[in-house]
Amino acid sequence: MYVRGVGPRVAEMLRAKGIETAEDLLYHLPFRYEDRQNPRSLDELKAGETASVIAEVRGAALLRTRKGSLFEMTLGQGRCVMKCIWFHAAYLEGKFHAGQTVAVYGKVEPSRSASHFKMIQPQFEILPDESADAQTRLLEVGRITPVYESLGGSRLASRWQRKVIFNLLETIRGAAPECLPRAILERLALPDRETALREAHFPREGTPFAQLQAAATPAHRRLIFEELFFLELGLELKRRRMKERAGIAFATNDKVREAIREVLPFHPTAAQKRALGEIVADMRVPTPMRRLLQGDVGSGKTIVALQAMLVAMENGYQAALMAPTEILATQHFLAARKLLERSSRKPRIVLLTGSLDEDRKRWNRGMINRGEAQLVIGTHALIEEKVEFDRLGLVVVDEQHRFGVLQRFKLMKKPGQAEPDVLVMTATPIPRTLALSLYGDLDLSVLDELPPGRTPIVTRRVTDERAGEVWEFVRKQVRLGRQAYVVYPVIEGTKDDHPELDFSQDEPMSDPSGIELPSQVSKARPGAPRARTGRKIEAAELFPRARQEANPWAKSGLKSAVEMHEKLRQGPLAGSRVGLLHGRLDADEKTVIMRRFERGEIDVLVATTVIEVGVDVPNATVMVVEHAERFGLAQLHQLRGRVGRGAAKSYCILMTGAPVSPLGEERLNAMVRTQDGFELAELDLALRGPGEFFGTRQAGLPEFRVANLVRDRQLLELAKQEAARFATQPEPGVSEAERARVWARLKEAWQRRYGLVEAG
Ligand code: ADP
Ligand code: MG
Repeated sequence: MYVRGVGPRVAEMLRAKGIETAEDLLYHLPFRYEDRQNPRSLDELKAGETASVIAEVRGAALLRTRKGSLFEMTLGQGRCVMKCIWFHAAYLEGKFHAGQTVAVYGKVEPSRSASHFKMIQPQFEILPDESADAQTRLLEVGRITPVYESLGGSRLASRWQRKVIFNLLETIRGAAPECLPRAILERLALPDRETALREAHFPREGTPFAQLQAAATPAHRRLIFEELFFLELGLELKRRRMKERAGIAFATNDKVREAIREVLPFHPTAAQKRALGEIVADMRVPTPMRRLLQGDVGSGKTIVALQAMLVAMENGYQAALMAPTEILATQHFLAARKLLERSSRKPRIVLLTGSLDEDRKRWNRGMINRGEAQLVIGTHALIEEKVEFDRLGLVVVDEQHRFGVLQRFKLMKKPGQAEPDVLVMTATPIPRTLALSLYGDLDLSVLDELPPGRTPIVTRRVTDERAGEVWEFVRKQVRLGRQAYVVYPVIEGTKDDHPELDFSQDEPMSDPSGIELPSQVSKARPGAPRARTGRKIEAAELFPRARQEANPWAKSGLKSAVEMHEKLRQGPLAGSRVGLLHGRLDADEKTVIMRRFERGEIDVLVATTVIEVGVDVPNATVMVVEHAERFGLAQLHQLRGRVGRGAAKSYCILMTGAPVSPLGEERLNAMVRTQDGFELAELDLALRGPGEFFGTRQAGLPEFRVANLVRDRQLLELAKQEAARFATQPEPGVSEAERARVWARLKEAWQRRYGLVEAG
């Protein structure tokens, strides 16, 4: 389709932003609106609020100082004036002239000078004057005006998009095909597609402004619903298709029950019983199981999985357990071997990880291939080494975040054999509605109860000035026969350039001033909640460069595991047995260290986040995290979950070594306040947004154009219900043509947007 204003060059720029069709452009919604019908006047502003103001330029100047340049513009309205300030903004020179009308948007800050207020780095737009063409005036003055994320420099900024989108909407007037059945829209009181698009871009006069900013107008709701509906419909379909595949019907009888009873070391919790019941029910039916077992750290997922694997083994099938790290795989291997010693059947267990030597690997592969090994525990090597199982019945994936792996189990079974059952375990507590909706192609079991006898973990935050007291405390615990972890964000050196780390990227580390630069503003996606505007800035903080030098990180850097291991061993923890564990040790070394810690031959384990997932040493009662402000909430929660696994009282000490950002404060305070993984997950989701939270790209989850999973959770639920309903029972009012259109669109949407389509 030919779009006015889009030639080959521009098309190329748009493509770089993921906009390839006219439709993509139409779904690129404004990220905010400016009310230019009833502009706020300067004398009614309040310090601290974020506002949009239309006023006249009184003067502008570029000031050069020793530290850099500063562009200042004064806006006036009657007798009120306001200053606007931009840093390093030589590019603004000559842009403003006295008498121009300008719209600015930013946080209103108090000012000590003659003007009452100032705005720092506001977004701005010079409004068209009488000489501008009629259309520009129509779109930008005296109305609710859409503001867009730029699609390429100043050329494809808001003004350009307004025109192109306006013209596009004119071109398709009355001809935009509807993709949702009319009957559904009527039932939900949502507008048709064309109306929704038109009004989301160019809101009608009188549209409540707050509703617009919150993306909650009927127009927005319709477009969000549409996007989520197709997501949910796709997931629903995927699940149905899986149910049509040939799987294995495992039998459960007294023999199987006895095999489980023999090895079970304790009474399962009610939650464990329920989850196992759900899993076994899936295993009994002849369709492949795809189930997610979700349970907070320490809730006892492993034993549930082991029981499921026993069911498979008792039925004459092989079971495989895949862990994300060699440490965990080894730990599972040793634990399983110990448990199964009590089994009268003595199943063969083999370990398969990448670091085994070639002979060993070949030997183990042979055992697996000939069916001589009943239980196989390993890492990704199970997939990478092209292990072919003799009769694979059940695959358990522990702590799985990367979903791509699900598709690859086919590689592990012999061609022509039935699809194995798959159980995915995760300790990432995902709010239930989100889990149900996003992992719609998996069934869900939740362990919402901890095994008995746990005492709550005492969590404290301290600054590292009090390190002396912390080490004293660790020594005391060691004297009592307990063990401790001390975790650092980096292995060695002071720079956080290690892949092992997974910091949440919300800190303005590269720009410690906290001043929001235009580049940061444009990074956010449309429809997503906007980044908060910069913190309150003092005059002395105005120059990012100066602040950077004063930034303590620049000088002191980070404490590292290697360095601190030495220091602690020789200093504060001299006399204790201190070990070191990090991702750069080779696998054998890691295993040896872990084994020694498990056996109590190491008192204090200095480590990086390699110990984050799954490690289980009940005698460890202290978790010290240094530079705790550098870790994400999910990580901190995982780390804390390493202690509190036995009956003894446990402690988590979060040490901070630098000024903590406001977001960091929120995270640390949340850790102190609650131990509930789901509550922390909710907060994490709210702080980071769904993309960061789920690690969108890595998880293969969709990027949304208009929806936002935190904001739009209710619509997500609605979309899920509607999708299920649409897939099951044709609604009377829905015509064949409408249904066909929905399916066609689903196919296209999934292929293009989500790329989640599973082959075969
Ligand atoms: P996670 O869910 O984090 O993987 P684990 O499976 O590692 O948790 O279990 C945590 C600890 O709790 C282990 O030491 C395990 O042996 C123990 N455990 C699990 N279930 C029970 C139970 N029902 N009663 C007592 N201890 C249990
Ligand atoms: Mg585990």
